Amino acid sequence: MLGALALMAAGFLFAAPAHAGFGTKVETHGGVTCRTWIGGSNTYPMDDEQYWVCWATPLSQRANSIANKVQSLGATGNIREFLKTQNVYYYYFIDRDDMNAYMSAKFPLEPMFQSSAARCGKTGYNNLNGRIITSIFDLCTYDHLSPPKQSSNLDLPKITSHESGHAFDWAWRKSKGGLPSVKGPSESDAFKTLGNFDMVRLDPANWVNKTKAQKINYVCNMFQQYLPSELERDLNTPNDKVCTNTTTVNPAYTTDGSTPKLPSDIAKQRVPYFVTTAGGQGSPLYQELFAELFSRQSQGGGTMLGMTDQVLWAANSPYKAFACTRWAIRMFWFTNEPPPLSGPDSLGQHDGCINNPGSWIP
Ligand SMILES: [Zn+2]
Repeated sequence: MLGALALMAAGFLFAAPAHAGFGTKVETHGGVTCRTWIGGSNTYPMDDEQYWVCWATPLSQRANSIANKVQSLGATGNIREFLKTQNVYYYYFIDRDDMNAYMSAKFPLEPMFQSSAARCGKTGYNNLNGRIITSIFDLCTYDHLSPPKQSSNLDLPKITSHESGHAFDWAWRKSKGGLPSVKGPSESDAFKTLGNFDMVRLDPANWVNKTKAQKINYVCNMFQQYLPSELERDLNTPNDKVCTNTTTVNPAYTTDGSTPKLPSDIAKQRVPYFVTTAGGQGSPLYQELFAELFSRQSQGGGTMLGMTDQVLWAANSPYKAFACTRWAIRMFWFTNEPPPLSGPDSLGQHDGCINNPGSWIP
């Protein structure tokens, strides 16, 4: 009997696929055990040092999906190598509680790696030693739903790319001699100026001259008929649709029961977490916009932030939604550097963004 159990245990240990699995390093803190996770050609973050999986029996496919996403980031500008060079670490926890137990014990003097509010992931930057840690949760925690609940993280790569946007934000600042600043380019004068410009341009200059039908058409093209996901509802998006069909706007988004509000005002209702301080719940303005545009640059909207990405990436006329902050993110994505001072039109973008928006160093 004992022999049979031992054989079963051994069989289980060696059942992991040869191409991916636990690496050689193990650490236990706060009752949570993390092991390095390796695979493929051991490319970052699966290098037996910078990606840790923190439960006994993870599904390989899910554990790999996080690392694979990181490996895919910025193939042209090589964001992956940039994050590696700046020592960004990734952790995959069962949930937020496990992250807090582990991080509070491993880094008792670095509370930026813990959170009582994070939903599906958390990225922290220690301004004293430059350590950057991204944690991804298998279970998301939604404290603002009624009743509060935990749900399976439906899109680990999406959350990974969003958190990697935060990691890049700080890593870039760090690469410029950022210590002890805790602000990345998302909090620079330049990005805020472009973000404010983008918000104003959500409203067509000729809005007052548009007929009601034209306004409805504009708003329903921009916001469409999305219902928010659980994550988006937890990020303060009302659980309804802007347009109930292509010619009818939900009265909650109108001035008089049928005429749409300004698109920028609707955006503040729909994606408050990304474009307002109230919705950011502590995050500085445009930090979340930066991370989500970075994520959207890396992949589509998916199931968790599909409504949000539709708004942030809308093909508005005459200018695309958030064209100028998107342009900034693309430049970071492809070159690891902010846009040239000459402005986007010099690159053939024709997004009409203002030139010389200010310093990129916050
Ligand atoms: Zn975020």
